[in-house]
Amino acid sequence: MIIYKVGDEKKAVCSVCEALRTVSYQLRDVPFDDGSGRVKDVIAGVCKTCDSVAVIPFQSVPAIKKQLQIQRKAVESRVPAHMIDLLNLASAQLGATPDFVPLLLKYYIHQLASNPEAARRLVTFMTSELATGLANKRLSLKGREIGNDIDKLKTLSQINNTTELLKGVVLTIHNDLLVNPDVQRIALLKSFVATVA
Ligand SMILES: [Zn+2]
Repeated sequence: MIIYKVGDEKKAVCSVCEALRTVSYQLRDVPFDDGSGRVKDVIAGVCKTCDSVAVIPFQSVPAIKKQLQIQRKAVESRVPAHMIDLLNLASAQLGATPDFVPLLLKYYIHQLASNPEAARRLVTFMTSELATGLANKRLSLKGREIGNDIDKLKTLSQINNTTELLKGVVLTIHNDLLVNPDVQRIALLKSFVATVA
């Protein structure tokens, strides 16, 4: 296998120019095939004519795959079984099936991660009797942004444990949809359900 160093040059077909060009190996941010994100700073062959990435050397493939896995990694946690029931009930309240639960959670986590005031309130739910119980049900959330949103929310809420954080989010949902129904939020979520169903 030929290992390219930054600054090496060779002739290669550029897919943008659709012609044989001189490419120079440089550190570039490379988009994933499916356009779902970018890998930062991998050695790629850059066309000297049009300045776009013309070839990805084989040596960069493991770095790209690793980055892809990190970005796709699910957030796994365990919560008490009654928390899953609360989420199913909240979904039903919106006219949705339990299939909607992961989206509902992701929506709330994303909203709370951009609302410092609401995020700080999470901790108040932790004193609730409903926050107790053996964490024995698996909760898995997939998506590119979920990891970032959870990190942001941990900082804002000052709850550093993922399980505790998720409990706070579940009890916020329980509060907003079932205990003290937030009419506007419910209307918004119902239209969301109608869109994704
Ligand atoms: Zn080119």
